[in-house]
Amino acid sequence: MSNVINGKQFADDLCEKLKTEVATLQEQHNLSPSIAVVLVGEDPASQVYVRNKVRRCEQLGIKSIEHRLSAETSEADLLTLIDELNNDSAIHGILVQLPVPDQINDKAVLAAISPKKDVDGFHIENVGAMAVGENQMVPCTPLGSLMMLQDHLGDLSGKHAVVIGRSNIVGKPMATLLLQQSCTVTIVHSRTVDIQSICRQADILVAAVGIPNFVKADWVKEGAVVIDVGINRIEVDGKSRLVGDVDFDDVQSKVSAITPVPGGVGPMTIACLMYNTVAAAKMQNGL
Ligand code: NAP
Repeated sequence: MSNVINGKQFADDLCEKLKTEVATLQEQHNLSPSIAVVLVGEDPASQVYVRNKVRRCEQLGIKSIEHRLSAETSEADLLTLIDELNNDSAIHGILVQLPVPDQINDKAVLAAISPKKDVDGFHIENVGAMAVGENQMVPCTPLGSLMMLQDHLGDLSGKHAVVIGRSNIVGKPMATLLLQQSCTVTIVHSRTVDIQSICRQADILVAAVGIPNFVKADWVKEGAVVIDVGINRIEVDGKSRLVGDVDFDDVQSKVSAITPVPGGVGPMTIACLMYNTVAAAKMQNGL
C-alpha cells in the first residue's frame, strides 16, 4: 500500500462536504457564503494562487468577488477598500493575497481586516485566540496539515512533533495546533544547533522552510509521518519543476507516510480557506 498521503483527494473530499453544506445554507437560511479576494499587483505566483482559490469557490457555490488593484495602489486606498468590505454584510470572508507591494505595510493590512472575516487567520486577535486554545479562524496551511495528520494517525497525543520553520503563517501556528493536540512540540529554525539530530527524534516532522529538498533520509526516524509544506520551483534538465522542502525520493521508503509536492499540503490549504469561509458565514449569521 502506498505511504503517500493524497492531499488532493483529501481536499476534494472535504470540498464535496462543504459543497453540500453551502447548498443547505442557501436552501434553509437563504445564506450564500461569500469571499472577497484582493490582489494588488501582478506577481505571477499570486495570480495563480488567486485563480485556484476562485476556481474552488465556483465549484462549491461560494460567491467570490475579485478586486484586482494596480501595483501602484497606495496603502490608504487598500485600507479604504478593506473598510468597505468589513462593513458589507454580504461579504463573509476577506483575503488579501500576500505579498503586497513595498509601499504597503502588510501588518497594517492584516490588522485592518475584521477578525470575523479574517479567513486566513492572520489577524493578531485570531492568533491570540489560538494561543489560549480558543480557536476562531485558524490559518489554512497548518489547519489542512493537522487534518491530514489526524486522519492518518488518529490521536496525536504524546507524539513528538518537530516543526522546521517559525514563520507566523506556517511554523508557529502549526506548532500551536500540535501542542493543542497534546504533542510534545519542538520548533527548529535557522539558528538551531544540530537540526538533524532533533529532526531524527520526530514521530511527526513538518517542514516549512522554503529550501528545496532540504530534509534528507538520514534526518528522519524510521516510521515517522512527514508533512512537507514547502513549495519551491527549481530547474531540472531545463524544465521548471515544483518540489517541497523534503527530498521525497530519498525519504519516502523510510517513513510511514509523507505528503507529496505537488498534491499534498497545497490543495488542503485552499480547501481549508473554503472551510473557513463557510465557518465565517455561519458565525456571522448566528448559525
Ligand atoms: P518563511 O517565512 O521564509 O520561513 C521559513 C522558516 O524556515 C524560518 O523560520 C527560517 O528560520 C527557517 N529556515 C530557513 N533556513 C533554514 C535553515 N537552513 N535551517 C533551519 N531553518 C531554516 O517561509 P514560510 O512562509 O513559513 O513558508 C515555508 C515554505 O512553505 C515555503 O516553501 C513556502 O512557499 C511554503 N508554503 C506553502 C504553503 C502551502 O499552501 N503548501 C503555504 C505557505 C507557505 P528563521 O526564522 O531563523 O529565519
